[in-house]
Amino acid sequence: MIITIDGPAGAGKSTAARGLAKRLGFEFLDTGAMYRAVGWACLQRGIDLHDEARVAEVAAVVKLELHDSHVICDGHDVSAAIRTADSSKAASVVAANPGVRSAMVDQQRATATGQNFVTEGRDQGSVVFPNAGCKFFLTADAHERATRRQVELEQRGYFTPLDRVLAEIHDRDHRDQTREASPLVKAADAIEIDTSRKTQSEVLDELELVSRQRSGLPLT
Ligand code: C5P
Repeated sequence: MIITIDGPAGAGKSTAARGLAKRLGFEFLDTGAMYRAVGWACLQRGIDLHDEARVAEVAAVVKLELHDSHVICDGHDVSAAIRTADSSKAASVVAANPGVRSAMVDQQRATATGQNFVTEGRDQGSVVFPNAGCKFFLTADAHERATRRQVELEQRGYFTPLDRVLAEIHDRDHRDQTREASPLVKAADAIEIDTSRKTQSEVLDELELVSRQRSGLPLT
Protein backbone atom coordinates (compact mmCIF):
# COMPACT_ATOMS: atom_id res chain seq x y z
CA MET A 1 0.00 0.00 0.00
CA ILE A 2 1.12 3.55 -0.69
CA ILE A 3 0.48 6.34 1.84
CA THR A 4 1.05 9.89 0.64
CA ILE A 5 1.84 12.92 2.79
CA ASP A 6 1.77 16.30 1.07
CA GLY A 7 1.75 19.89 2.25
CA PRO A 8 3.70 23.15 2.31
CA ALA A 9 7.26 23.65 3.59
CA GLY A 10 7.65 23.27 7.34
CA ALA A 11 4.29 21.58 8.02
CA GLY A 12 6.15 18.67 9.62
CA LYS A 13 5.81 16.23 6.70
CA SER A 14 9.32 14.76 6.83
CA THR A 15 9.32 13.89 10.51
CA ALA A 16 5.77 12.56 10.25
CA ALA A 17 6.44 10.51 7.11
CA ARG A 18 9.65 8.99 8.46
CA GLY A 19 8.02 8.19 11.80
CA LEU A 20 4.92 6.70 10.19
CA ALA A 21 6.99 4.50 7.85
CA LYS A 22 8.96 3.24 10.84
CA ARG A 23 5.84 2.46 12.88
CA LEU A 24 4.18 0.60 10.01
CA GLY A 25 7.34 -1.14 8.74
CA PHE A 26 7.00 0.65 5.38
CA GLU A 27 9.71 2.21 3.19
CA PHE A 28 9.96 6.00 3.08
CA LEU A 29 10.46 8.22 0.02
CA ASP A 30 11.44 11.89 0.47
CA THR A 31 10.58 13.35 -2.94
CA GLY A 32 11.63 16.88 -1.90
CA ALA A 33 15.19 15.54 -1.59
CA MET A 34 15.02 14.51 -5.25
CA TYR A 35 14.14 18.06 -6.41
CA ARG A 36 16.78 19.45 -4.05
CA ALA A 37 19.42 17.13 -5.55
CA VAL A 38 18.51 18.21 -9.11
CA GLY A 39 18.80 21.88 -8.01
CA TRP A 40 22.17 21.13 -6.40
CA ALA A 41 23.42 19.32 -9.54
CA CYS A 42 22.45 22.36 -11.68
CA LEU A 43 24.21 24.79 -9.31
CA GLN A 44 27.32 22.55 -9.37
CA ARG A 45 27.34 22.60 -13.17
CA GLY A 46 26.85 26.38 -13.24
CA ILE A 47 23.59 26.03 -15.17
CA ASP A 48 21.08 28.88 -15.18
CA LEU A 49 18.14 27.45 -13.20
CA HIS A 50 15.68 29.15 -15.55
CA ASP A 51 17.19 27.49 -18.65
CA GLU A 52 14.38 24.91 -18.93
CA ALA A 53 16.00 22.69 -21.55
CA ARG A 54 19.39 22.37 -19.84
CA VAL A 55 17.86 21.89 -16.39
CA ALA A 56 15.55 19.14 -17.74
CA GLU A 57 18.61 17.50 -19.34
CA VAL A 58 20.34 17.41 -15.93
CA ALA A 59 17.24 15.82 -14.35
CA ALA A 60 17.23 13.15 -17.06
CA VAL A 61 20.88 12.12 -16.54
CA VAL A 62 21.53 12.72 -12.85
CA LYS A 63 21.90 9.52 -10.80
CA LEU A 64 19.98 9.74 -7.53
CA GLU A 65 20.11 7.25 -4.67
CA LEU A 66 18.15 7.71 -1.45
CA HIS A 67 19.23 5.60 1.53
CA ASP A 68 17.57 6.37 4.88
CA SER A 69 18.58 9.96 5.55
CA HIS A 70 21.40 9.97 2.97
CA VAL A 71 21.02 11.40 -0.51
CA ILE A 72 23.64 10.43 -3.07
CA CYS A 73 23.79 12.43 -6.27
CA ASP A 74 26.15 11.22 -9.01
CA GLY A 75 28.16 9.41 -6.33
CA HIS A 76 28.45 12.43 -3.96
CA ASP A 77 26.80 12.43 -0.54
CA VAL A 78 24.80 15.67 -0.78
CA SER A 79 22.63 15.08 2.32
CA ALA A 80 23.82 18.29 4.01
CA ALA A 81 24.46 20.38 0.87
CA ILE A 82 20.85 20.06 -0.34
CA ARG A 83 19.45 21.51 2.91
CA THR A 84 20.97 25.00 2.66
CA ALA A 85 18.77 28.04 1.90
CA ASP A 86 20.29 28.28 -1.61
CA SER A 87 19.46 24.64 -2.33
CA SER A 88 15.90 25.09 -1.02
CA LYS A 89 15.36 27.97 -3.41
CA ALA A 90 17.03 26.13 -6.30
CA ALA A 91 14.80 23.10 -5.62
CA SER A 92 11.60 25.11 -5.85
CA VAL A 93 12.77 26.78 -9.10
CA VAL A 94 13.69 23.50 -10.85
CA ALA A 95 10.52 21.85 -9.48
CA ALA A 96 8.45 24.22 -11.65
CA ASN A 97 10.11 22.74 -14.78
CA PRO A 98 7.75 20.17 -16.43
CA GLY A 99 10.71 18.16 -17.81
CA VAL A 100 12.18 17.83 -14.33
CA ARG A 101 8.81 16.85 -12.87
CA SER A 102 8.20 14.15 -15.42
CA ALA A 103 11.67 12.61 -14.81
CA MET A 104 11.13 12.66 -11.01
CA VAL A 105 7.57 11.32 -11.21
CA ASP A 106 8.79 8.38 -13.35
CA GLN A 107 11.46 7.56 -10.76
CA GLN A 108 9.00 7.89 -7.86
CA ARG A 109 6.50 5.53 -9.49
CA ALA A 110 9.24 3.06 -10.42
CA THR A 111 10.48 3.07 -6.81
CA ALA A 112 7.22 2.73 -4.90
CA THR A 113 4.52 1.16 -7.10
CA GLY A 114 3.32 -2.18 -5.78
CA GLN A 115 5.20 -1.85 -2.50
CA ASN A 116 4.55 -0.58 1.02
CA PHE A 117 5.75 3.03 0.95
CA VAL A 118 5.10 6.31 2.73
CA THR A 119 5.91 9.00 0.15
CA GLU A 120 6.21 12.67 1.05
CA GLY A 121 6.10 15.80 -1.11
CA ARG A 122 3.75 18.26 -2.79
CA ASP A 123 2.03 16.20 -5.51
CA GLN A 124 2.12 12.65 -4.20
CA GLY A 125 -1.61 12.24 -3.58
CA SER A 126 -2.79 14.63 -6.30
CA VAL A 127 -0.65 13.49 -9.26
CA VAL A 128 1.92 10.77 -8.64
CA PHE A 129 -0.14 8.19 -6.74
CA PRO A 130 -3.82 9.11 -7.31
CA ASN A 131 -4.86 5.62 -6.16
CA ALA A 132 -2.85 5.67 -2.93
CA GLY A 133 -4.51 3.72 -0.11
CA CYS A 134 -4.35 6.68 2.22
CA LYS A 135 -3.61 10.37 1.60
CA PHE A 136 -2.74 13.07 4.09
CA PHE A 137 -2.29 16.81 3.67
CA LEU A 138 -0.40 18.46 6.52
CA THR A 139 -0.62 22.20 7.14
CA ALA A 140 0.46 24.65 9.85
CA ASP A 141 0.29 28.42 10.11
CA ALA A 142 3.17 30.26 8.43
CA HIS A 143 4.68 31.61 11.66
CA GLU A 144 4.78 28.13 13.18
CA ARG A 145 6.31 26.68 10.01
CA ALA A 146 8.98 29.39 9.95
CA THR A 147 9.84 28.83 13.61
CA ARG A 148 10.26 25.09 13.02
CA ARG A 149 12.44 25.73 9.97
CA GLN A 150 14.56 28.18 11.94
CA VAL A 151 15.19 25.58 14.67
CA GLU A 152 16.03 22.97 12.03
CA LEU A 153 18.52 25.34 10.34
CA GLU A 154 20.06 26.24 13.70
CA GLN A 155 20.57 22.55 14.51
CA ARG A 156 22.58 22.35 11.30
CA GLY A 157 24.69 25.33 12.32
CA TYR A 158 22.94 28.04 10.27
CA PHE A 159 21.51 30.85 12.38
CA THR A 160 18.90 32.71 10.31
CA PRO A 161 16.65 35.56 11.60
CA LEU A 162 12.98 34.56 11.80
CA ASP A 163 11.79 37.28 9.43
CA ARG A 164 14.17 35.97 6.75
CA VAL A 165 13.02 32.36 7.22
CA LEU A 166 9.41 33.56 7.07
CA ALA A 167 10.08 35.51 3.85
CA GLU A 168 11.76 32.46 2.27
CA ILE A 169 8.84 30.22 3.26
CA HIS A 170 6.31 32.68 1.75
CA ASP A 171 8.43 32.90 -1.40
CA ARG A 172 8.65 29.10 -1.75
CA ASP A 173 4.92 28.57 -0.96
CA HIS A 174 4.02 31.12 -3.60
CA ARG A 175 6.21 29.41 -6.24
CA ASP A 176 4.92 25.93 -5.30
CA GLN A 177 1.25 27.01 -5.34
CA THR A 178 1.25 29.11 -8.49
CA ARG A 179 3.40 27.03 -10.87
CA GLU A 180 1.63 25.51 -13.85
CA ALA A 181 3.11 22.02 -13.53
CA SER A 182 1.56 20.12 -10.61
CA PRO A 183 1.08 23.03 -8.19
CA LEU A 184 0.76 22.25 -4.49
CA VAL A 185 -2.90 21.31 -3.97
CA LYS A 186 -4.72 19.07 -1.55
CA ALA A 187 -6.09 15.98 -3.30
CA ALA A 188 -9.89 15.90 -2.96
CA ASP A 189 -9.72 12.65 -0.96
CA ALA A 190 -6.79 13.66 1.28
CA ILE A 191 -7.25 14.03 5.02
CA GLU A 192 -6.09 17.47 6.16
CA ILE A 193 -4.31 17.78 9.49
CA ASP A 194 -3.33 21.16 10.94
CA THR A 195 -0.17 20.47 12.95
CA SER A 196 0.22 24.03 14.34
CA ARG A 197 -0.75 23.18 17.89
CA LYS A 198 0.04 19.48 17.93
CA THR A 199 3.17 17.72 19.12
CA GLN A 200 5.04 15.45 16.70
CA SER A 201 3.85 12.41 18.59
CA GLU A 202 0.19 13.54 18.51
CA VAL A 203 0.45 13.97 14.72
CA LEU A 204 2.11 10.59 14.36
CA ASP A 205 -0.53 8.84 16.51
CA GLU A 206 -3.28 10.32 14.32
CA LEU A 207 -1.55 9.31 11.07
CA GLU A 208 -0.86 5.82 12.36
CA LEU A 209 -4.43 5.22 13.54
CA VAL A 210 -6.00 6.32 10.25
CA SER A 211 -3.41 4.40 8.18
CA ARG A 212 -4.02 1.19 10.13
CA GLN A 213 -7.80 1.58 9.84
CA ARG A 214 -7.56 2.18 6.08
CA SER A 215 -5.08 -0.59 5.35
CA GLY A 216 -6.52 -3.27 7.57
CA LEU A 217 -3.26 -3.49 9.54
CA PRO A 218 -3.83 -4.50 13.19
CA LEU A 219 -4.48 -1.61 15.58
CA THR A 220 -1.77 -1.52 18.26
O1 C5P B 1 9.92 19.10 0.88
P1 C5P B 1 11.11 19.95 0.59
O2 C5P B 1 11.11 21.27 1.29
O3 C5P B 1 12.41 19.24 0.79
O4 C5P B 1 11.00 20.25 -0.99
C1 C5P B 1 11.87 21.13 -1.65
C2 C5P B 1 11.15 21.72 -2.85
O5 C5P B 1 10.93 20.70 -3.83
C3 C5P B 1 9.78 22.33 -2.57
O6 C5P B 1 9.82 23.69 -2.23
C4 C5P B 1 9.04 22.11 -3.86
O7 C5P B 1 9.24 23.20 -4.73
C5 C5P B 1 9.69 20.90 -4.47
N1 C5P B 1 8.89 19.68 -4.39
C6 C5P B 1 7.92 19.48 -5.35
N2 C5P B 1 7.23 18.31 -5.38
C7 C5P B 1 7.46 17.36 -4.48
C8 C5P B 1 8.41 17.56 -3.46
C9 C5P B 1 9.10 18.76 -3.42
O8 C5P B 1 7.68 20.35 -6.19
N3 C5P B 1 6.80 16.20 -4.56
